[in-house]
Amino acid sequence: MSTTATNASTDANQASTAAWDPIFDELNFPKDPDNMYAQTVATMLHGAEVVGLRHRVKIILAQPKNELMVHFPVKMNDGHHHLFKGYRVQHNNALGPFKGGLRFHPDVHLDDVKSLALMMTLKCALVRIPLGGAKGGVKCNPREMSVDELERVARRFTSAIQHVIGPDYDIPAPDVGTNAQVMAWIADTYQMSTNDRTSTDGMRVVTGKPVEIGGSLGRNKATGQGVVDVLVEMLPAFGIPIEDMRVSVQGWGNVGSWAGRILQKLGAKIVAVMDHSGCLLNEDGFDTEALTAYCQEHGSIAGFEKAHKTTGSGKDTSKGAQPISLEDFYKTRVDVFIPAALEQMIKAEEASYINCRVIAEGANGPVTPEGDEVLEKRGIHCIPDILANAGGVTVSYFEWVQNKTYHMWDEERVDAELNRIMVMAARRTLVAKQKYDVPMRQAAYCSALEHLGAVYRVRGIFP
Ligand code: NAD
Repeated sequence: MSTTATNASTDANQASTAAWDPIFDELNFPKDPDNMYAQTVATMLHGAEVVGLRHRVKIILAQPKNELMVHFPVKMNDGHHHLFKGYRVQHNNALGPFKGGLRFHPDVHLDDVKSLALMMTLKCALVRIPLGGAKGGVKCNPREMSVDELERVARRFTSAIQHVIGPDYDIPAPDVGTNAQVMAWIADTYQMSTNDRTSTDGMRVVTGKPVEIGGSLGRNKATGQGVVDVLVEMLPAFGIPIEDMRVSVQGWGNVGSWAGRILQKLGAKIVAVMDHSGCLLNEDGFDTEALTAYCQEHGSIAGFEKAHKTTGSGKDTSKGAQPISLEDFYKTRVDVFIPAALEQMIKAEEASYINCRVIAEGANGPVTPEGDEVLEKRGIHCIPDILANAGGVTVSYFEWVQNKTYHMWDEERVDAELNRIMVMAARRTLVAKQKYDVPMRQAAYCSALEHLGAVYRVRGIFP
């Protein structure tokens, strides 16, 4: 190892502890160490230091290009009007159009959205697709809204942000609390509100659409599939065979349930699951298809252990399932833990008793910097979000390309192209890990930043 690499490694390891950088003073950042945006920027800036990114690129990446906050009224079913708050943050478009999900959740805050937008820029750079980074959302609770109310919120929000999005400028996608149906309402509203109503090109304004209106085959499962593609590529190096591997999953929504179902098909056992309603254990391994069907019908995993449905072969789908506490969920011994719910859920405390060998971050930002430090000390490998969950934006990119070229790929082609991109990104991360002698999260950031640095070098900065 070279001296430079050793110094880089020390610097990078300090990155997780020291969430401060002179650029924070230069840009007047608020001094709150628990602020997720400051944490994400700190990790990015330390990666930038390691790869020797120029100051001008660092300051550009430390702040989003545009931040839009909107307030809009929606008539609720009981007749009263509720004023909603929504955001669209466009972090960077040096690589291509802004791209990133829309989240409908009560905890949507500007700084978290900014943080997620920055991660999107890095994610697209890591997997080398020609898209930039953005994120958005509406502060609301879809679980407490009727379908009609949800549709009115989606359409009215679209009308509030339609002047900043566009099929070749900023292309939203699903995230927590939104899905293909919400994307269909957004696409329809956008197309009806823009000048050229005779063209269906406006429908390209979102990805993750239903297949009937131009969605890509394989997009629904793409993020979970990408998590699995990266695991299959990396697990041999950790000496973990997939057959009979024990897995726990936090969040049984789009990402978690697809990752769980695909892993079960490959022979793994999903032994613990958790969502907003609680945690369940099944030492024999869950019937993941039955659990997903139950969840879709009931809105959560709560009560699955009492459902006792019988399969065609006479098997009880809930056999062996039992509720457990949150602490027991984390302490359940597994080979792989997949956080696929919200950010900042694994802090130092959870990291100190989590009982796994590898974490594959299906969610964005599920581990705090303090949590990261504890995991690092305990020798737990963490496959970072911008690598592990990049399958979603990758197939979104495929959807956008299919729409632009009026083609439709079959699912085999989508899966094969996705696998190729995920495997390349995993290898790129391992190369950076070795080159800079840094933990895997820092390595993924370094590889993404090398690419962004190269793009800024050749593009230059206007004027
Ligand atoms: P989703 O809404 O489909 O599912 C979210 C899951 O998290 C649900 O099971 C919910 O019960 C659970 N959850 C919510 N609050 C929780 C809490 N406090 N404790 C435990 N569980 C809780 O969302 P999703 O699309 O699966 O996204 C999950 C994560 O993956 C998010 O971080 C998102 O940004 C990230 N992600 C999603 C995609 C995608 O394509 N959908 C792509 C990349 C990253």
